[in-house]
Amino acid sequence: MVTPIRNPDIKFKQLFINNEWVNAISGKTFPVLNPATEGKIADIQEGDKADVDKAVDAAKKAFEPGSAWRITNASDRGCLMNKLADLIERDRLYLASLESLDNGKPFNDSYNIDLVLVIKCIRYYAGWTDKICGKTIPMDGEFFCYTRHEPVGICGQIIPWNFPLLMMAWKLGPALACGNVVVLKPAEQTPLTALYIASLIKEAGFPPGVVNVIPGYGPTAGAAISEHNDIDKVAFTGSTEVGQIVMQAAARTNLKRVTLELGGKSPNVVFADADLDIAVNACHNGLFFNMGQCCCAASRTYVQEEVYDAFTKKLVEKASSRVVGDPFESNTMSGPQVDKEQFDKILNLIEAGVQQGAKLECGGKRQGSEGYFIQPTVFTGVTEDMRIGKEEIFGPVMQVIKFKTMDEVIKRANTTHYGLAAAICTKDIDKVMTYSSQVKAGTVWVNSFNVFGAQCPFGGFKMSGIGRELGEYGLHDYSEVKTVIIKTPTKL
Ligand code: ADP
Repeated sequence: MVTPIRNPDIKFKQLFINNEWVNAISGKTFPVLNPATEGKIADIQEGDKADVDKAVDAAKKAFEPGSAWRITNASDRGCLMNKLADLIERDRLYLASLESLDNGKPFNDSYNIDLVLVIKCIRYYAGWTDKICGKTIPMDGEFFCYTRHEPVGICGQIIPWNFPLLMMAWKLGPALACGNVVVLKPAEQTPLTALYIASLIKEAGFPPGVVNVIPGYGPTAGAAISEHNDIDKVAFTGSTEVGQIVMQAAARTNLKRVTLELGGKSPNVVFADADLDIAVNACHNGLFFNMGQCCCAASRTYVQEEVYDAFTKKLVEKASSRVVGDPFESNTMSGPQVDKEQFDKILNLIEAGVQQGAKLECGGKRQGSEGYFIQPTVFTGVTEDMRIGKEEIFGPVMQVIKFKTMDEVIKRANTTHYGLAAAICTKDIDKVMTYSSQVKAGTVWVNSFNVFGAQCPFGGFKMSGIGRELGEYGLHDYSEVKTVIIKTPTKL
């Protein structure tokens, strides 16, 4: 049993540009709050357009031909990334504690899930650095053709607050593996661990300007990234609405490459033949993990009518027994929501669920009087025309929906403009094959949910995103393919 650090030192509060800590040009700061107490943790320098410009200049220098980064050979790039993973591992306890303080997630999850996935992700992409190969292509005549996979250049990366460290790893891993340089903006709610990782990047020995971290707000620092004419690619994770703004900005300016990982309303379908205990866990963890703050959260639980009553009872019992409280207590399963805005939005949607006629089976209220805690909530009798049946809630609110047949449930599962993830619980392989081939989602889990590996691609169909993160597929959007055709002296 590892003991968390309840009051980790906040060591870095400035912007990280060119491997140096600097104040924002405006001199402004913004407060970062502890969602468990609503108290201030620290004031952080607030980056803006002028700071993004400065970071882009540093990144540009770092990417010039002949620079320390460009002449680092591919294998040595892998060594640097492995060194970074070693340092994260060294400081795992501190980082997990800081993540829980800043985000509110249970320390057990930060330490045992987030940090483990972060380290594996960086190591996985470290292994790719010297395995990113082009092709030789046969041509007619006296020509020799090959392709090179070159880095795209300056990558702007805008990340969310629900998995601050993990989203940083998902973005940095493939970008650095391909030899790019980065200007990254953490979410304004949770910038602390990103700044600490920046210090480890310097300690690992990455040359100045390769990674720059600019904390700040979305419409200012974030927009400066998506609108910047010298940024070659923007990778964004967040809401679908902001994803559209980022893509418009990219289109309006320099047509920078865009990858988006956006919202979801993922269906989890339980057939009557499923192992119901396994299915209860898949549905419960699929929704309540990370306080429901997952873009892939299983927020529509479809249950076949034969088992609907018995299964719903189990779901309600499990939700009611979930321990919500201090993120640093060892038995805590859920902490607070990340901030007041999310907290209010979720309570408002719960209210809408009641008003639109869904049955509130448990929860539905704030827990305690301090911090943004919400009771685990289950609604039954939900339909897809209710707000809770179609809008992304991003909170601990489960919607249970009754269905009869496979054809019906596939249609209903697909009645959403989202398409991030889906799941099915059954013992019947035919049902698995039918559902997994017809549901419109980037990931389909079977008798499980929220299972991630750095080697497995993740991303959305429809309005849940563009492109894929993780795995070999995650490298594609971080390189440009160059075709080289050489005249040969004789026919080859
Ligand atoms: P959420 O609604 O879950 O907070 P957002 O999509 O608003 O998610 O935020 C995700 C990330 O996008 C954050 O880093 C945020 O600062 C950033 N962001 C918000 N608005 C913009 C914008 N207009 N342009 C670029 N980035 C933005």
